[in-house]
Amino acid sequence: GKSLVWFRRDLRDVDHAALHHALARSGEVCCVFIFDKLILDPLPRDDRRVEFIHDSAAELDAALRAAGGGLIVLHGDPVEEIPALAARLGAEAVLANHDYEPYAVQRDVRVAAALERDGRAWLSFKDQVIFEKNEVMTRGGTPFSVFTPYKKAWLAALHAGGDDDSVQPWVTSGLPGRLAPPPAGDMPSLEALGFSRTNLASLPLGTGMSGGARLLERFVERLGDYQRLRDYPAASGTSLLSVHLRFGTVSVRSLARLALQAMRSGQGADGGATWLSELIWRDFYFMILHWHPRVVSEAFRPEYDRIEWETGEQADRLFAAWCEGRTGYPLVDAAMLQLRRTGFMHNRLRMVTASFLVKDLGIDWRRGERYFAQQLNDFDLSANNGGWQWAASSGCDAQPYFRIFNPVTQSERFDPQGGFIRHFLPQLGRLSDKHLHAPWLAPRSALDAAGIVIGRDYPAPVVDHDEARRRTLARYAVVRKSG
Ligand code: FAD
Repeated sequence: GKSLVWFRRDLRDVDHAALHHALARSGEVCCVFIFDKLILDPLPRDDRRVEFIHDSAAELDAALRAAGGGLIVLHGDPVEEIPALAARLGAEAVLANHDYEPYAVQRDVRVAAALERDGRAWLSFKDQVIFEKNEVMTRGGTPFSVFTPYKKAWLAALHAGGDDDSVQPWVTSGLPGRLAPPPAGDMPSLEALGFSRTNLASLPLGTGMSGGARLLERFVERLGDYQRLRDYPAASGTSLLSVHLRFGTVSVRSLARLALQAMRSGQGADGGATWLSELIWRDFYFMILHWHPRVVSEAFRPEYDRIEWETGEQADRLFAAWCEGRTGYPLVDAAMLQLRRTGFMHNRLRMVTASFLVKDLGIDWRRGERYFAQQLNDFDLSANNGGWQWAASSGCDAQPYFRIFNPVTQSERFDPQGGFIRHFLPQLGRLSDKHLHAPWLAPRSALDAAGIVIGRDYPAPVVDHDEARRRTLARYAVVRKSG
């Protein structure tokens, strides 16, 4: 028979669960990707992610063509398009990989129901995580809400599989099925979809499987240093692979295998173990979202929804200053500029800027979460929500509410020579390392020598950290009272 593989956030033709299963069970396999109107319509026309997806889908199409097939690319509502296409092609089954976001889960339920009404099968598979949903649970059979025991159980599950079963690649060649060429018609251009090119090509990310593979190749050599360098935004300590994981242009299994190899080889063992831990955090937040979909709009710990956040004009002004990198705290501002200009932000800085919004400006974490969701190339509902609720202390296994990052101390610790700050705030470039982290405290002579007037070349701080800290502790007191 014939089957249809629906690609979503898994834009590759190697180590792909649904493609593997389709080729294993069907004589002929067609492939489709849909630009989902419901997702695309509200986006700005210069959204880097649409360009990333477009170019990655084009590469996938080329790879499938080289193997005798090709990618059918549509633009519409998948709930209508998929059943209609399956009918046109005469496919007996539609196969896809699990998607865990609430919107996607609902969409897939509706697609499956429509297919079943037509007598076609809907089959879906785990692919974008190592362990999903209920695969790593407490002894009592309940979901974990604390990371460390989850990680222990995750590693035990990995080893219980023997031969690293859970990280083995899904082969997609040498199987009985063959790829069917798509009906005539070219892939729509980015412009035809209503979008324009951005600065994506100037960023070091690449697109598609080849872009992911290149980043990975470069990172392999640095994996051993990961633990040492990962917290310093000026160092190339992290992989930058998040956008590729987001859209599936790399397989998470291949990354986990790499980490395990490093751990076992003894070379770069610490780096490998720490990096694997980050991939486990990723699974953890997907699992949390699966069991607690209400976190999308509510605090994981309900008592945190009693907190009264700052609202009104003053809060709006502070929020705008945060978004635009005008808070007067150089590390925060450089980070927010990195986000605006590149769609990426280093993990340490995501923690610092999120904490600053919530605990220095007193603004609801949901506002920051939404802004990150618009800006991040690697935006993933689960990790973004997890990160924000961690910073706001409202999440599972979050930062305690009374722990409040000091943006100056963080700056001195994690960008001591100011390499990161100077890159995004060249106007501060001539300030010494000592004064760079809190320019408003620099003596007049130092500012003069660097040619800086506070308020003209760089803003004065929008809040005083010590005062903000006191206000935050008072604001969060409602949490403590509720026990
Ligand atoms: P590396 O350090 O090379 O890590 C490898 C991979 O592990 C990452 O690509 C990512 O997939 C995963 N990972 C690393 N750290 C985490 C983490 N804390 N939680 C979950 N997965 C992790 N990550 C996203 O992928 N999408 C988001 O929308 C997102 N929003 C965040 C918001 C906040 C407020 C915070 C504090 C963190 C957020 N993160 C998010 C997690 C983390 O910051 C990014 O995954 C990381 O910076 C990506 O860079 P990298 O690929 O170089 O990471």
